[in-house]
Amino acid sequence: NTQDVKVLLLENINVTGQDILRQQGYQVEALKASLPEDQLIEKIKYAASHAYTKLTAKVLEHAKNLIVIGCFCIGTNQVDLNYAANAGVAVFNSPFSNSRSVAELVISEIIALARQLADRSMELHKGIWNKVSAGCWEVRGKTLGIVGYGHIGNQLSVLAEAMGMSVIYYDVVNLMSMGTAKQVPTLKALLEGADFVTLHVPEIPETKNMISTEQFGYMRKGSYLINASRGTVVDIPALVEAMRSGKIAGAAIDVYPNEPAGNGEYFNKELNTWAEDLRSLKNLILTPHIGGSTEEAQSAIGVEVADALAKYVNEGSTVGAVNMPEVNLRSLTADEPNHVRIIYIHKNVPGVLRRVNEVLGEHNVDKQMTDSRGDVAYLMADISSVNQGDIASLYNSLEDLGSRVRTRVLY
Ligand code: NAD
Repeated sequence: NTQDVKVLLLENINVTGQDILRQQGYQVEALKASLPEDQLIEKIKYAASHAYTKLTAKVLEHAKNLIVIGCFCIGTNQVDLNYAANAGVAVFNSPFSNSRSVAELVISEIIALARQLADRSMELHKGIWNKVSAGCWEVRGKTLGIVGYGHIGNQLSVLAEAMGMSVIYYDVVNLMSMGTAKQVPTLKALLEGADFVTLHVPEIPETKNMISTEQFGYMRKGSYLINASRGTVVDIPALVEAMRSGKIAGAAIDVYPNEPAGNGEYFNKELNTWAEDLRSLKNLILTPHIGGSTEEAQSAIGVEVADALAKYVNEGSTVGAVNMPEVNLRSLTADEPNHVRIIYIHKNVPGVLRRVNEVLGEHNVDKQMTDSRGDVAYLMADISSVNQGDIASLYNSLEDLGSRVRTRVLY
């Protein structure tokens, strides 16, 4: 029953997303901020979704009624995905709703760095008139090097060429170029060939400190670095060194290794050893992870994640889930009145399907789909000729199987 579904939304989820969930009839509690761990543990016993707050195994252990988590953002590092999958909790995110916003921010930073815009503005805020042209450049005719040519890198490629820049990119995958951009075979080749280097790779072990002392060594003297990907990708002390030596003429940093959960004091030496160093540098644009923070992106994220949550809660579809196999069956229609949909999340071990189908086999199995991902498998089946009395017995029989992670019967 949709009225029994409780949804906890943390961190000011966009109203478009809230509306979609309320229209489903769910009980939605929307909070502006995150919650400290102890309060989260208390609430999450009953609730169903969140945005950015850390959902560790310790928190999820208490979330016995939780069936789904929605990350109203791209990253899902804040959730223990493996623990969630093994507890039968699907996790959804919004991978691409804000790609354009990030690309536009980066475009603005390319010009701002080339013109030392942030420094001039800060000086004049302090009352100082400092009209300079030395070290200031047009971007037309310069080369942009894009590391990671995915959703954001792609958009950026098109926008940069429209401004008259040449584009080269490096990616671990062979990808088709947009416009006249050229893929280069190594990161070194990209760093050596670009006036501006911008990073758009995921946070994975291979990209940790991907740009460090050695890589700054390959970059052109007087070139620029932009990081709006993830904070772990750039070795910050190495960046400080490269800027102090004059090798790097400017940088824009939007993401940091250990970002705070909420707004407030962050850039001080008690919290971050390198904070004072960064604050002291010229032509360094520092922004608090705002790459995707636009009204358009928040609204698109709200719709994308809320739709995915509703589809999972109401119909069991895992399409787009980041920690479960993707399984889907077409929606049940009004001319299928005596049907129920079985969702059976189970350990991926031999012999389970045989036992499940022994239980389901007493009814007519209309359609069924099953897939696995790592240790967890997901089965979805529509069965017909089921009366109310059968539902409890079906549920209990499936719950009794040793391989069960979670059973849901939707009708
Ligand atoms: P994407 O998955 O579409 O593209 C990433 C690309 O990087 C892929 O083409 C992949 O093949 C490539 N790649 C992976 N490992 C690589 C490696 N070792 N070397 C070179 N290329 C590699 O991702 P996206 O949506 O374009 O996002 C890119 C990054 O931007 C992510 O880290 C994401 O978290 C971050 N992001 C930041 C903000 C922000 O607010 N600053 C907003 C959105 C996304």
